[in-house]
Amino acid sequence: MKVIIIGAGPAGSTAAIQLWRFGFDVELIERNRIGGLLQNANLIENYLGFPEGISGEMFCELIKEQIYKFGINVFFDEVMKIEFIDNKIIVNLTKDIKKCDICIVATGTKPIQLSKEIIEEEARKYVFYEISNIKHYTNNCKVAVLGSGDAAFDYAISLSMKNTVSIIMRGDTPKAIRTLVDSCNKINNISLEKNIQLIKIIRINDKLLLNCIKDRELVNFEVDYLIVAIGREKNLPEISEKALKTDRLFLIGDVATEKNIRQASIAAGHGMEAAINVYLKNWNKL
Ligand SMILES: Cc1cc2nc3c(=O)[nH]c(=O)nc-3n(C[C@H](O)[C@H](O)[C@H](O)COP(=O)(O)OP(=O)(O)OC[C@H]3O[C@@H](n4cnc5c(N)ncnc54)[C@H](O)[C@@H]3O)c2cc1C
Repeated sequence: MKVIIIGAGPAGSTAAIQLWRFGFDVELIERNRIGGLLQNANLIENYLGFPEGISGEMFCELIKEQIYKFGINVFFDEVMKIEFIDNKIIVNLTKDIKKCDICIVATGTKPIQLSKEIIEEEARKYVFYEISNIKHYTNNCKVAVLGSGDAAFDYAISLSMKNTVSIIMRGDTPKAIRTLVDSCNKINNISLEKNIQLIKIIRINDKLLLNCIKDRELVNFEVDYLIVAIGREKNLPEISEKALKTDRLFLIGDVATEKNIRQASIAAGHGMEAAINVYLKNWNKL
């Protein structure tokens, strides 16, 4: 029986490993990198087995090592649409299609974007929503991080190792957990800018100029890069109604979880649960 798993984050990778152990023919499809969103995490402190914490990048490397150690087949492409035709699940990729009996969708979340009108055309390529790539090539730069939640504070800590960072918040109270806020407060080159409303982002003299309002006054921040971390939403490929109704399609991990409880251990738990449900189900009717 063939199982396709879409997304190689903690949810999809856990499901793939467990299904492989049960003896299924497993294929993992990933559009980017094995490990998923955690590539962006500075330090994972709440995943069991790592008493000192582990960097997001190292954690993803270990997931990759484990996937390849089992010889699980990973195919790098983006899934565009999932259908259910002639008793098979059809997975449409950018240029190809694949068929399977069971499909597990673990495609995580995508960042909520600023409206395009706020960002001038020339400024767009200096505005980012995740940091896994840019943290390696920014050095001695001025970076602003927009947001007040866990991701914003986590990004600020990562970037502060080589840059000066301003966290720009709309309100006056961080929404991030205490440990992240405390860490940021202790880092000299991170500043917290409160009660700021971002109006427009323009590019002038090789810099980004963030036009903002604070206490009804116009204020500007001049930076090299802006990281936007104002929340994430579920990221689902298109799924036909028939495919959604079949009991052979599973949605797991962050894509199936409400915000505030999106955590790697929960995603991995979902992956394990889905794999066991697939195993225990009586598939003779297929
Ligand atoms: C900055 C930051 C720090 C974090 N720190 C922690 C932490 O310390 N501890 C913790 O427990 N959690 C942390 N999290 C949350 C954690 O990253 C997520 O809860 C977890 O990664 C969710 O796993 P997932 O497998 O459901 O989705 P993801 O990890 O998002 O993986 C989804 C995968 O699907 C792929 N994909 C998406 N669409 C397609 C498609 N159409 N075709 C093919 N592939 C596709 C993506 O490329 C991605 O690899 C953090 C998150 C962020 C942003």
